[in-house]
Amino acid sequence: MGQSYRITLLPGDGIGPEIMAVAVDVLNAIGKQLDIGFEFTEALMGGAAIDATGEPLPAQTLEICRKSDAVLLAAIGGYKWANLHRHLRPETGLLGLRAGLGLFANLRPAAILPQLIDASSLKREVVEGVDIMVVRELTGGIYFGQPKGVFTTETGEKRGVNTMAYTESEIDRIGRVAFETAQKRGKRLCSVDKANVLEVSQLWRDRITALSSEYPDVELSHMYVDAAAMQLVRAPKQFDTIVTGNLFGDILSDAAAMLTGSIGMLPSASLGATGLGVFEPVHGSAPDIAGLDKANPLAQVLSAAMMLRYGLNQPTAADRIEKAVRRVLDQGDRTGDIMSEGMNRLGCRAMGDALMKALTLS
Ligand code: NAD
Repeated sequence: MGQSYRITLLPGDGIGPEIMAVAVDVLNAIGKQLDIGFEFTEALMGGAAIDATGEPLPAQTLEICRKSDAVLLAAIGGYKWANLHRHLRPETGLLGLRAGLGLFANLRPAAILPQLIDASSLKREVVEGVDIMVVRELTGGIYFGQPKGVFTTETGEKRGVNTMAYTESEIDRIGRVAFETAQKRGKRLCSVDKANVLEVSQLWRDRITALSSEYPDVELSHMYVDAAAMQLVRAPKQFDTIVTGNLFGDILSDAAAMLTGSIGMLPSASLGATGLGVFEPVHGSAPDIAGLDKANPLAQVLSAAMMLRYGLNQPTAADRIEKAVRRVLDQGDRTGDIMSEGMNRLGCRAMGDALMKALTLS
């Protein structure tokens, strides 16, 4: 046996267990092909954890995640837990997981698959060939900066405050992830900021520029966030890898993702300093179709591919999985969410079977 990895599985709620089962089958199959070992440990998170233990992220789950080489998460949440106190909601478990594992970099790819091009709300010629990766800083910036709060002024008026702040080391660590990500892709990095107005952005721009001397193979450019938002919908093909702060990244990654038009296809990765990452689909737990064998497992499977590429440095395995996904789409297999006329409608399990067949051909 070659390299072996400990993977924590967090199937979560709703369609989570259904799509996770497909991803595990795919990982086992690719492991056999390429002599890679996976030791899976399943742990509780989200609503499932609340039901079993009273908390959305039990300490034991965090401990199991910390001891693993990578974490594959499906989705959490659902109607049943939506009205609990904030600290008991499934989403609080997600924030706890990010904080507990120190995940400061969020990678969100937005690639247009030619087979699904008509799912985009933009014109074919604008989106054809789009392949963007947004690298968003996740644990700093205006979402966490101090002071924050709603204060009462001397005149008795209320004043809401948030602070956008970044230290040099915070910028450097996300910058490095972004340059290294660009190196694994098209070797072009666009740093997005608002340096014409914000001092914090000027520091951001200076540090990213300084870092670029360490990555001479990556072509660096800078863009103001308002221009970037416009260019993303006007001419998205100009972008390869984008790096930006927490707030700008929150907005731009959603805009970039929607260029593809299909939420059931989008994976993501959150990475920390130790190399441990959490890999998960962008979509939620889809409680409206849970248990009905209607879920699209492809975002989960593509998240497993991201885990192999960015978490475990196994690019060949990632390539093969991505190729198998393209192959099933090429042969016309579709789940309900990406269905169009003349295609074969499959359930979640049947899509998994089609993928397994496609993998044996790669
Ligand atoms: P959602 O992404 O779960 O669903 C939105 C719509 O897309 C639904 O119609 C759903 O059926 C469909 N959909 C989503 N994923 C699909 C897939 N793989 N295959 C086929 N169809 C799919 O978003 P929502 O309805 O706003 O949220 C549902 C629950 O998920 C909520 O409790 C929410 O808090 C939670 N949520 C969790 C995460 C996460 O775990 N990271 C992210 C977003 C939402």
